[in-house]
Amino acid sequence: MTDRTLPVPLTQSSGTERMFPKLTAAQIKRIAAHGRVRSIRPGEVLAEAGEQALPFFVVTAGEVEIVRPSGTTETLVAVHGPGQFTGEVNMLSGRPALVRARVSEPGEVIELDRERFLALVQTDSELSEIIMRAFIVRRVELIAHGLGDVVLVGSNHCSGTLRVKEFLTRNGHPYSYIDLDRDADVQVLLDRFHVTAADVPVVICRGDVVLRNPTNQQIAACLGFNEAIDETQIRDVVIVGAGPAGLAAAVYAASEGLDVLVLETNAPGGQAGSSSKIENYLGFPTGISGQALAGRAYTQAQKFGAHVVIARGAKQLACDHKPYAIEIDDNLRVPARTIIIATGAAYRKPSVENLSQFEGAGVYYGATFMEAQLCRGEEVVVVGGGNSAGQAAVFLAQTAKRVHMLVRSNGLAESMSRYLIRRIEQNPAIVLRTNTEIVALEGSDHLERVSWRDAGTGDIENHYIRHIFLMTGAVPSTQWLDGCVALDPKGFIKTGPELSQDDLVAAHWPLARPPHLLETSLPGVFAVGDVRCGNIKRVASAVGEGSIAISFVHKALHD
Ligand SMILES: Cc1cc2nc3c(=O)[nH]c(=O)nc-3n(C[C@H](O)[C@H](O)[C@H](O)COP(=O)(O)OP(=O)(O)OC[C@H]3O[C@@H](n4cnc5c(N)ncnc54)[C@H](O)[C@@H]3O)c2cc1C
Repeated sequence: MTDRTLPVPLTQSSGTERMFPKLTAAQIKRIAAHGRVRSIRPGEVLAEAGEQALPFFVVTAGEVEIVRPSGTTETLVAVHGPGQFTGEVNMLSGRPALVRARVSEPGEVIELDRERFLALVQTDSELSEIIMRAFIVRRVELIAHGLGDVVLVGSNHCSGTLRVKEFLTRNGHPYSYIDLDRDADVQVLLDRFHVTAADVPVVICRGDVVLRNPTNQQIAACLGFNEAIDETQIRDVVIVGAGPAGLAAAVYAASEGLDVLVLETNAPGGQAGSSSKIENYLGFPTGISGQALAGRAYTQAQKFGAHVVIARGAKQLACDHKPYAIEIDDNLRVPARTIIIATGAAYRKPSVENLSQFEGAGVYYGATFMEAQLCRGEEVVVVGGGNSAGQAAVFLAQTAKRVHMLVRSNGLAESMSRYLIRRIEQNPAIVLRTNTEIVALEGSDHLERVSWRDAGTGDIENHYIRHIFLMTGAVPSTQWLDGCVALDPKGFIKTGPELSQDDLVAAHWPLARPPHLLETSLPGVFAVGDVRCGNIKRVASAVGEGSIAISFVHKALHD
C-alpha cells in the first residue's frame, strides 16, 4: 500500500533540477562504459531499504519509483524517468539504504556496482559534480521530511534525548521524533514495543530494533554507520578526529592515493559542526553552517575513498614500535605507517543544560569585531578570569553598554597581565563579579535572559542579557596519548619548531633530520588543528594544517 504522506513526491516539487537532474546522451554513454545495460520489469526491486553497498542505476527507458517503506505502508519519495539516476549519499559510505527502488514502468537501466561507481565519480569531474550535488540535496530533503529509518521517542526536557538528537543531526541522519510530552498517541507505540516512559530516550531503529537509552556507539552500530575495520591492514595514514582538520587531511590524503582510515568519537565536523553560521571561512560570502560544511567535507572524503568510522574513538596510541597502532573500543588495534592527530579541543563550559541551544545565538567562545558588532549598545557577560577573558572584556567594553565579568573564584587569575587588570579596574563599563557563576539561560531562537548566582550570599539574579562570552579556555583532547608525544604545559601537542632540543632528547628522537613542520616528537606522527600547540583556533587554520600535513606524510612514508 502506498501512503502519499508527502504533499507531492520530491520529483514533482519545485526546484528539482539539482536534485533529480536529467543526464545528456553523452553523459549516459560515459556511464555505460563503466557498467552493464539490462532490462527491467514492473514490480522488480532494484534496491531494498536496509541493503548495504547498493549498485547505482541510470534509467534509460521506463520508470523507477523510490519509496520509503514503514511497516505495511510506503511513502512515495520520487519517480525516476529516462536520464535520471538512483542513490543518495549512503551510496558513497556503503551504509544501508533508507529507501526502496522499484520498477514502475518496464524499460532499461545501466547498472554500476559500488566499486565502479566510486571509480566513476573519482575520475569524471563533470559527472561527479552532478551526482554529488544531487546526492547531497536528496539527503537534505530526506532530513527535512524526516524520511529515515529511525524513530526517536523522547522528551525535550531529557538530556539523553537531546544527546541522541544531536548525534543523529550532526551525522546528517534523517529521523522522526515523537515527543512524549506532546503526543497523546505515543503510548500505543510504546506498548507495541513493550517499553515504558522510564526507558526514554527510545530509538526504534530500522523498523523493529528497539534501543533503550542507547549510547551513540549502539546507535551507530544499529544504523550500520560503519564498515568493519580490517585489523590486519596496515594503513598509510590513520587520522584521529573528523573535525575540519581531520576531514581536510582525509580529503587530501585519499585524493592523493593514500590508504586512509579516519576515526571519530562522535560526528564529523568537530567544534565547527556546532556553529550555526561560519561567516569568516573563505569562499562562503553569505556564511555556511558548520553542519553543512562538515556534511560536504565528509562526502568529499568518502568520494575519494577515505574510510571514515563514526562513534569509535581512539583510546590509546601504541607507540613503542613501528608500525604504530591506534587502539579503539572492543580492544581493536588499527596499525598505521603514519598517524595524524586531529582530536581538537573542547571549550570548558559551565554546566548549564541548554547551553548548546544558544551556541552561536548568544553564546560565543571568541570576542572578535564580528561579535562586538552583534552586541553593540547592549549589556553582555564575559565568563572567566584569565587573560583571554580580560582581553575580551576590555575589547567589548568599547562598544557594549555594560560588560559583566563573572569569575568563579574570588578574583582575577594571578596569571592575568597587570595592564589588563588596571584597564578592567579603571573602566566604568566593566563590572567585575567574583564568586559568581551562571546558573540558567533562557530564550527561544536566541538567548534572552541570563541568571547567575553569588556563591557567597546564594542570591540569584536574572538579567535581560542576550550575549555571553565563555572565555574559560579550551582543553585539548590529548589524554589518550599517554606520554607518546611531547606536550606543552597545557596539554597541547608540540610540533616542528615548537619542539626544543631537550624535548627531542627526552623523546629519543631517532632521525638525523629535525621533525617536519607539523610532526610531533614521534617520527611519522603529526598533529594538526586545535589540538596543536600554537595553532590559531579557526576553521581555516585547521583545514590548512590538515591539508599540508599530507605533504609531510608522503615524506615520512619514504623515510
Ligand atoms: C560554537 C563554535 C563556533 C565557532 N565558530 C567559528 C567561526 O565562525 N569561524 C572559525 O574560523 N572558527 C570557529 N570556531 C572554531 C573552530 O570551530 C575550530 O577552530 C575548529 O573546529 C578546529 O578544528 P579541529 O579539527 O582542529 O578540531 P575540532 O573541531 O575540535 O574536531 C576534533 C574532532 O576530534 C574528535 N575526537 C576527539 N577525541 C577523539 C578521539 N580520542 N578519537 C577520535 N576522535 C576524537 C572530536 O569528536 C571532534 O570531532 C568555532 C568553535 C565553536 C565551538
